[in-house]
Amino acid sequence: MEYSEYHDQAAEYMRLAIPLMKKHGIAMTPANYAVWYEYVAGKNAALTDAVEESIEDNQPLTDKDSRQLYERFFDREKDQAALLEMRQDIRRILTEVLTFLANGAAASEKNGNNLKDIIGRFHPDMSQDEMHSIIDDVLSETKLLTSSTDLLAERLNTVVAEMRDVKKDLDEAKREAKTDTLTKLANRKAFDDVLAKVTHDSDKNGNEVCLIFCDLDKFKLVNDTHGHLVGDQVLRVVANTLKNAVKGRDLVCRYGGEEFSIVLLNTSLQNAKKLAENIRVEIASTRVQRKDTQQSLGKITMSFGVAHYFPSEGTESFLQRADRALYMSKRKGRNAVTEAQPPVI
Ligand code: GH3
Ligand code: MG
Ligand code: MG
Repeated sequence: MEYSEYHDQAAEYMRLAIPLMKKHGIAMTPANYAVWYEYVAGKNAALTDAVEESIEDNQPLTDKDSRQLYERFFDREKDQAALLEMRQDIRRILTEVLTFLANGAAASEKNGNNLKDIIGRFHPDMSQDEMHSIIDDVLSETKLLTSSTDLLAERLNTVVAEMRDVKKDLDEAKREAKTDTLTKLANRKAFDDVLAKVTHDSDKNGNEVCLIFCDLDKFKLVNDTHGHLVGDQVLRVVANTLKNAVKGRDLVCRYGGEEFSIVLLNTSLQNAKKLAENIRVEIASTRVQRKDTQQSLGKITMSFGVAHYFPSEGTESFLQRADRALYMSKRKGRNAVTEAQPPVI
């Protein structure tokens, strides 16, 4: 057996030999270890045959069998030196195991220290019993580490899965918090957030932002005549019309009740007015029927106020101007679009 072989394969042979020794109830003595080490290394054909013969006989190998194999296959004198070398190598192997485990993120400090203490008990003249007890201790310690590593990995996986669920719930809750339940449009909160952001951006880089405020005309009458559920149905139809009228980058919101707002990005006042006019015409031409009786609800109309953001005017002024323009449309007789007055500086 070349010494260099230990360097390359000793850890692997140890991993194979020790469970076999445990399985066959062989005491962990250096001599026995030498036999089983040779066996898993497969370099000594006669020894391999002898061990396999014993195993095949189906006679459980005893400690005594192992010792006899040792005496048969190992030159005593030579082995005195080999034994000493092996002790050193076992120590080195165990140190490697310790390093390997200590490098694993899961190796707890306590277990790592226990191993260090055990390995510290090695010395060249130790008795077989001492050696046996040390190897046993290392085995139970590494087993502990392995199982705690598995447990830790399992726990980490559970935590990751739990975190994923919580994040999903949180995303869903965030989405819900910004969505109007009746129309599925963005709600007032989402509108406020977006408006604050786009006006802030416009203050910095002069991007064009337009705002359309719109309100259903005489909507109270629809509710009074047909009831709230029919009123809700109208709100959903109007919401879809608004949503379908704008591009993906624009935001349609239910501002509250029967009022809606649209934030248009990179859009001139002219184009915003054109869009409001198109929506006005479309809604006025939509015929809504009661689902239950198919009765027509008559003409549904909407009034509009359109404002173009002046950089630095702030959201409050912007909102007020659009609202005032909407109010002017109502004053003019409803079903109309009005352009907002410029801000008062
Ligand atoms: P105007 O043309 O001046 O806007 O008249 P209006 O009747 O539309 O305005 P008013 O403010 O007097 O009434 C608004 C009505 O909108 C009252 C309320 O019942 C109705 N409304 C608000 N929110 C909802 C809702 O979620 N569902 C239903 N069905 N009706 C709503
Ligand atoms: Mg109204
Ligand atoms: Mg209103």
